[in-house]
This record gives sequence, structure tokens and C-alpha cells, in this order.
Amino acid sequence: MRRGHPWLFADSIQRQDRRGCAGELAVIYDRKNRFLAAGLFDPDSPIRVRVLQAGKPQTIDLHWWSERLQRARERRQSFFDEQTTGYRWINGESDGWPGLVLDRYDRTLVLKLYTAAWLVRLEEIIGLIVQQLQPERIVLRLSRNLRDAAQNAFARKDGEILFGPTLSEPVIFSETGLRFEAEVLRGQKTGFFLDQRENRRNIEGLARGRSVLNAFSFSGGFSLYAARGGALAATDLDLSAHALRSARRNFALNQSNPLVASCRHEVLQADAFEWLSANPKRKFDLAVLDPPSFATREAERAGALRAYAKLAALAIEHLSSGGILVACSCSAHVAAQGFFEAARMSAAKSKRRFVELRTTGHAPDHPAAFREAEYLKAIYMRF
Ligand code: SAH
Repeated sequence: MRRGHPWLFADSIQRQDRRGCAGELAVIYDRKNRFLAAGLFDPDSPIRVRVLQAGKPQTIDLHWWSERLQRARERRQSFFDEQTTGYRWINGESDGWPGLVLDRYDRTLVLKLYTAAWLVRLEEIIGLIVQQLQPERIVLRLSRNLRDAAQNAFARKDGEILFGPTLSEPVIFSETGLRFEAEVLRGQKTGFFLDQRENRRNIEGLARGRSVLNAFSFSGGFSLYAARGGALAATDLDLSAHALRSARRNFALNQSNPLVASCRHEVLQADAFEWLSANPKRKFDLAVLDPPSFATREAERAGALRAYAKLAALAIEHLSSGGILVACSCSAHVAAQGFFEAARMSAAKSKRRFVELRTTGHAPDHPAAFREAEYLKAIYMRF
């Protein structure tokens, strides 16, 4: 905690003066009774306290919260112009807002909570957000493990509108000038994978004249960038018909761009592992792999690494000569180096010559200030 780690686990607490309720401020003292930190208390989470203030004591009041929000805004000041209206305003612990995420989709903000501790101060936070960011609307999203408690104890529902008019359709926003829909009320994460923006931009720069496989495509983000970068064809492969319908709509939204309009867009609803195994003849000049997390617990790490290696090996077989593989991982339990090694091993085993082009990590609006917050990594290789 002295080195800035934001979590205090239940089993590290030696003594507690009373039981405490979710959302109360807990003050943490060390063995010698010196102030260590103050944070949000959550009696139902193994992460019992999430640090707000460490080192020296401070009064945590509205003014303090207001400065915190301002700091998150300032950090992002020079990142985006008006071509990008979808990005993350607050990235939880790493922005000093433990267990809270705030994403912008045009004039709609999505507030996602990962601890019940925030529910008691929701009104206060909404007030601040409205004052500083002037959104049209704020949508509340709750992590799965929170939903029952939030409903029972606070009458709060996942997908509820906290501020502003109701919403019946996905929100349309821009990312570097491309238009996308975000399903903010029910979609995965807060409705879109904002964290992959920088990798998508890289794909745009690599796509010219190529045929592209976008495996685990979700709503086609990588394909749209490839198309704008001059890809001849883009194939979205996903298990979810729902996601693929969204990919079709996203292509339709960007037909005014001649390169998008002339890119051949195909969608395939299938399990990526099965499809890659069953269609050895289909070749691509660029393949993106962006699967869901293969390890949700530490115990699943080894299996996840094997799955990443297998997936990369399968995709390499589909690459034409000179083809590029971009393999991503969003598992926090799989460290970047281990993941990169797994991908390199698959490349080596393919017996094809390859060069590693680059590796990437977190986007600047998704800072990761401590190890457990690091999850996203990608490796680019040309064969
Ligand atoms: N690349 C996307 C985000 C991918 S999220 C973007 O930039 O927006 C992961 C996606 O993988 C989800 O859409 C999910 O439906 C899909 N998925 C999960 N398991 C799958 C499988 N076995 N085969 C194909 N798609 C799968």
C-alpha cells in the first residue's frame, strides 16, 4: 500500500473497530498505528477496501471528488479531437476512482460500477459528472456480481438511466472519424470495446490492398479500420449473430467513405477455433485475433496460454505469404511476456520465416497503474 497499491484484501486486516457498511470510508493504519490510507469499504468483496487517498490524510468531501474528476479529465485533454467522441473518461483504480469506470459515447455517458461501495454516493457522483461533463444522459451499468445486491438494497438496475432522456436504440458515436454504434444499455463492457482503439488504428495502417480476417470481431471495429485503410475484403468471424448484425450496421454507417464502400464485407457466424480448423483453404493477408479472456482466474492461466498458442497456430495456417498476424489478449491473469512468448512459439513451430513487427499495451485513456490492472496486450508478426 505504501508503494501505491490500491487494494486491501480482507485477509490482510488484523483488526477492525466495527463491521461497517458498503460505501463507508475506511481508514487504514499500519502496525504502529500510523495512517496508511483511506478508501471505500465493501464488506461483501474480498477486496475489502479500495484506496482513495494514501500517504497523508485528507478530507474527502465534494471538493476532493471534484478535483479527482478534473484530474482524470486533464489527463485526457490532448488525446482526442472532435473526430473521436467515444473514449474512457475514468478508468477505475488507475485514475483514482477504484471500481468505477466512466465511458463517453458522444453525449451519453456510461457509468459502470464494480463495487457496491459506490451505490451509496451515486447522487453525489452524478451531480459532479453533470456539472463537469455536461452529458445529455448517464446510463448505469453494474458488474454481474453486483446486480442482485444493487437491486435489493438500493433499487438500482443494470441499464437504468440515471440522468437525461430514455434511450431505445444504440448510441452512435465517432472514433477517429469512423461511426459506430454502442449498445450502452445491455452490451458487453459499456457497449463497445473502446480499449482496442489504438490497435484498430494500427490495422488501418497495415491493411492496404489486403484481405483481412477479423476473428472474434464483435461489431466489426477492426474491419472498419481495415476497410478505411484500403483493405480489399474484410471477414468478420464471431460466435454471436447479434454482434455480426451490429457489424453490418457499422459498415452501413460508413458507406460515405469510398474505401469502406468498396471493401468486400463478409460476416461468418461460427466458433473461431472450429471455423479455422474446418476451412484450411481460406487464405488472408492480415488476421486479427481478439478473443474474450481465456483466463478469468489465476488457476486458468496455463490453459489460457495453450489456447492462445493454439489459436495463433491455426491463424498462421490461414496467412498468405507476407501475411500479418495480430494476436491480442485481454486476460489480466496472463502477463504480456508469457502471451508474447506463446505467440512466438506458435510462429516458430509453423516453420515459416517471420519477423516481429511490434507489441502494444494499454491505450492512453485506459491507463494501468498497478499490475492487476494490466490486461491488454497485442503482438504483430509478418510471415
Ligand atoms: N475485436 C472486438 C472485440 C472482441 S470481444 C472489437 O474490437 O470491438 C470478443 C468477441 O468474441 C465477442 O464478440 C464474442 O461474441 C466473440 N466470441 C467469444 N467466443 C467466441 C468463439 N469461440 N468463436 C468466435 N467468437 C467468439
